[in-house]
Amino acid sequence: MVHSPKATKSLAVAHDVLDEAIGVVQECMARGGGADISAALSQQINIKLKGDCPTALRAVIDRHSWTGVQFKVSPNLNALLEDLFKARNDSGAKENTPPNKRRRSDEKDKADTGGAKSTPLDTSMRSAKETPEDMALVTEIPWFSLDDIDVGKRLGAGKFGAVYVARERRTGFIFALKVLDKAQLIKHRVEHQLRREIEIQSHCRHVNILRLYSFFHDEKRVYLMLEMAPGGELYGLLQSRGVFSEARSAWYFKQMVEAIQYCHTKHIIHRDIKPENILIGLQDTLKIADFGWAVHAPSSRRETFCGTLDYLPPEMVQSKKYRSHVDIWGLGVLLYEFLVGKPPFEDTDEKGTYRKIKNSTPDFPPQITTEAKDLINRLLNKNPDKRLTLADVLAHPWVALNCGGANAQRLQRHYGGIV
Ligand code: AMP
Repeated sequence: MVHSPKATKSLAVAHDVLDEAIGVVQECMARGGGADISAALSQQINIKLKGDCPTALRAVIDRHSWTGVQFKVSPNLNALLEDLFKARNDSGAKENTPPNKRRRSDEKDKADTGGAKSTPLDTSMRSAKETPEDMALVTEIPWFSLDDIDVGKRLGAGKFGAVYVARERRTGFIFALKVLDKAQLIKHRVEHQLRREIEIQSHCRHVNILRLYSFFHDEKRVYLMLEMAPGGELYGLLQSRGVFSEARSAWYFKQMVEAIQYCHTKHIIHRDIKPENILIGLQDTLKIADFGWAVHAPSSRRETFCGTLDYLPPEMVQSKKYRSHVDIWGLGVLLYEFLVGKPPFEDTDEKGTYRKIKNSTPDFPPQITTEAKDLINRLLNKNPDKRLTLADVLAHPWVALNCGGANAQRLQRHYGGIV
């Protein structure tokens, strides 16, 4: 059967939604079909199809009483982003490759006093709307604009803008609106990062990966419509507690391993796993949130130097080609930081850290159990090919012991998480 382009598109959207809905239902059933799990998931996924909704999906929607909106994704992200950053005439410029230094809480405060904070929300939003329309973009009909959204309290600020709680007016759907300043993005040459973030994150569907529902832009800003993560950054929680217990660490770690496992099945390498990039979502579920350094690499080995210094694997430090094993290393550094409160190769200067990453094995405080040490050492193997696979990680006695069997319910009660 031949479909018109319009019909094909709506069919594709319908399939996407159906896939998602079936996934949710399967997850609910696998967990015993608890009503509150279903309610929590429906809050996150909120589905509503206008027009032709497949009967199978309608049945699912009716059964779960889901309401809300299906956010659409731009059909031509490339064209949009080319327009978006046409201001830069050196578009062939090399990607911004130096590693992000770790952002500590004091630096975060500095970021907070940047452009985003100096302009009160209402006036900054309105002034963006009142500027003349960008002529290059008039052919784009955005699905969303500020007119469709009520913007509320500020949730936080990053280097390129701020994040607000927002509500889609028509449906009441609540989400986080990340407002990025185009001039800042261009100045710091991170357009490519933003583009990757949008491309990759909008296609990910995993309970431990923050959803990027949609985006739009005006003359001055880019707006990302993100899943709301009311608990903020995991980094903040780790800072306030100093370290996490082995039980909490195992529970959080398992969620991150499953998220990365999902990414790898989609040939996505994250390349920047760290507590600053993990948010605490609904029901304290951990969500990988920042895909600025992620890459979709179905076959090739990569060479770009990226990520955060403390989390860099030896193959990147030595400028060798690398593959998805870099994320296994990242998970090892993350687990160490959960348990010890600082990354394993931290040093007074960058050279010292590089040296340690290449040559040293991590030191462990006496309270860390033998099983946890064994797992970390196997993740932090200098030889990428000898690192554990993600399936082996989940089967490792430390993970299995902490998170397996009846312990899973106990940990979920204590530490939350939709799993
Ligand atoms: P970012 O620019 O991504 O570093 O975000 C800046 C701050 O905004 C973070 O530290 C969080 O506190 C907050 N934030 C970012 N994304 C979200 C979200 N999806 N939900 C809730 N808060 C968020």
